[in-house]
Amino acid sequence: MKSHHDISRMYINGRWVGANSHATFPVYNPSNGEKIGDVADGNRDDAQKAIHAAQEAFGLWSGRTAYARSKYLHKAYQVMMDSKEHLARVMTQEQGKPLKASRGEIQYGADFLLWYAEEAKRIYGETIPAPRSDQRFIVLRQPVGVVAAITPWNYPMSMITRKVAPALAAGCTIVLKPAEATPLCAIEIFKIFEKAGIPAGVVNLVTALNPAPIGEVFATHPMIRKITFTGSTQVGKILAKKAADQVKHVSLELGGHAPFIVFEDSDPVYAAKGAVLVKFLNTGQACISPNRIFVHQSIIEPFIEEFKSRVSKMLAGSGFEDGVSIGPLVNDAAIQKVERQVRDAVDQGATLICGGQRLKDNDLDKGFFYAPTLLGGVTPNMLIYREETFGPVAPVITFNTDEEVLEMANDTNYGLAAYVYTRSLSRAMRMFEGLRFGIVGINDINPTAAAAPFGGMKESGLGREGGRDGIAEYLETKLGGFSI
Ligand code: NAD
Repeated sequence: MKSHHDISRMYINGRWVGANSHATFPVYNPSNGEKIGDVADGNRDDAQKAIHAAQEAFGLWSGRTAYARSKYLHKAYQVMMDSKEHLARVMTQEQGKPLKASRGEIQYGADFLLWYAEEAKRIYGETIPAPRSDQRFIVLRQPVGVVAAITPWNYPMSMITRKVAPALAAGCTIVLKPAEATPLCAIEIFKIFEKAGIPAGVVNLVTALNPAPIGEVFATHPMIRKITFTGSTQVGKILAKKAADQVKHVSLELGGHAPFIVFEDSDPVYAAKGAVLVKFLNTGQACISPNRIFVHQSIIEPFIEEFKSRVSKMLAGSGFEDGVSIGPLVNDAAIQKVERQVRDAVDQGATLICGGQRLKDNDLDKGFFYAPTLLGGVTPNMLIYREETFGPVAPVITFNTDEEVLEMANDTNYGLAAYVYTRSLSRAMRMFEGLRFGIVGINDINPTAAAAPFGGMKESGLGREGGRDGIAEYLETKLGGFSI
């Protein structure tokens, strides 16, 4: 693979085009700071052009049969699977995650194309018994119209297919702005759409260094009928407020602060293994990353011992190197956020069990590496207990009773994912029902799949992606009342 991508273009109305202003911006490898490409720096004009192309294409695309739309998604799935290795290498270079994790994300991303290729054919309506004998009720589900999507850098390919696949299956056309840290991944995904023969204007890509003006156009343009956003709660709120003026549909996949609860009837070694795997997934840069690990007082010692021993074996470095499981953070600001939270916790009495520093040896100082970190004795007054970390820090808190831990777990403005380790069926069910989170893993650290609804409660979001719910987000319900 070339290590430097030539100036990469946006995809608007079926053509690869430069920015209206001819401006570009550089993209860097977060493992070593090397520049890996230049990308078109789109502005409002480019966003508007893309929206017009999507509007123009909407009539034809939504008028195609579900079977025809399905075929394009099937084809895109096949092309994506055929390009798996190439895509994984682009992702590791641009986002930093280990190659194995990149391959896993490509598979997860492709799964949405396949699943919604099938689901396109199941957009069923309804007939409803009417109150009058001369009346008939028929319910249709129709596409909402042109969709604007904004995606993050942490899962830079699958977050795109998770939106585009159901939108296209539903009959919508789409304009997408990827994160400025990972535009090359987005360009690769749009090359797949092109190769799959998806008609001009149905999918459009606008890349930009400064996201705010594009977000503004998306949220205020009258042709956009739906905004779908994955990213921080702060930006999600800005977009939702702006979109409210035209009462646009809004789906938001936002931040999280997942509790990970380990009860005394579980095996602490098994639970620690799960906690390490999910905490350090993507170096902690996942919205479903555990941000408070609650362990029953009676098993805290074996849990910490196992956790620590596993962390000590983790290797940080370039995702292209064998055996590396800790990739870089996205940028320096991310390192500073982690440093601030760890310093605050230690200043307020937390115990630094391992890690706790930026990694600099063996050239790691050229990238954004932070040691996998375990903090004991974390308390509710610490920043890390409330703020999302988005980095490789595991804060541990002890508890004594079920009621106490349920209350502590729910004491957050977030409500995305939660994890519970127990061998008791009734305890598992009580926790599943009592936790105010959209996704609950019971002895399961990966409760996600293309077929399953993913999304949060409270300030973690609105709507769901994946599964049946995921396509409903792109459909309007229309009632027909017929007097016969
Ligand atoms: P971010 O909100 O800054 O960026 C996400 C996207 O929003 C990027 O494409 C960015 O360019 C864009 N953006 C930023 N400011 C904007 C603005 N003013 N107007 C329009 N678009 C704007 O978030 P981040 O820090 O880059 O990403 C991490 C966050 O994303 C975390 O909080 C994480 O929990 C969340 N996230 C959530 C999910 C989920 O499914 N719930 C998945 C991944 C990440």
